[in-house]
Amino acid sequence: MDLSRRSLLISGAVAGLVGAAAVPASAATHPNDPLERLLAGNRRFVAGRAHHLHQSLDRLHEVAAGQHPFAVTIGCADSRVPPEVLFDQGLGDVFDNRVAGNIVDDLLLGSIEFAVEEFGCPLVVVLGHERCGAISATVDAIESGGTAPGHIGAIVEALRPIVEPLAGGPGDVVEHGVRANVVAQVAALTARSELIAGHVAAGELRVVGARYDLDTGRVTLLR
Ligand SMILES: [Zn+2]
Repeated sequence: MDLSRRSLLISGAVAGLVGAAAVPASAATHPNDPLERLLAGNRRFVAGRAHHLHQSLDRLHEVAAGQHPFAVTIGCADSRVPPEVLFDQGLGDVFDNRVAGNIVDDLLLGSIEFAVEEFGCPLVVVLGHERCGAISATVDAIESGGTAPGHIGAIVEALRPIVEPLAGGPGDVVEHGVRANVVAQVAALTARSELIAGHVAAGELRVVGARYDLDTGRVTLLR
């Protein structure tokens, strides 16, 4: 028996015990640290042991009257990177913001500030991912000297200042760009939002960056 299987059995046993005392079983299986709660969910997902908590009709009715998400995510719109699935969460758990290239602009900042203010979310995660098409399109535009068509150009131009210094350098420019973009967007959150910076300074909010591996499903913290 490996450790994760063992901890799963232990948490199940604890949930059973406290269930008799009318404490919600889900409360006993959630780590208190919101980041660990997400990472534990990702470990379950990667191991093929997702709990699929909070995806029932009971949960739907429970959160219909009000939501209390414990984390804000800023991720790419890529169809392979849905946070509720890869973090093994459900309805009402994650305030999920997604746009190609996980770029923080004014609209997204407003969305994040709303979640932090309205729900007191203690965690914001910027989640980039391996082989991101938005980064690849930006690398292509830089290397070809061209531009992307239509409004795709807005995404490329937002990413260009982050990716351009890496172009022509050693290694996988797209991978370096993915990582640099996560770091840049994490920095942008506190640099551009007094509200977010204030909550971080007060110790009420944590902002972290992470990378999702398309091949393994694993989330790794970057900063
Ligand atoms: Zn992407």
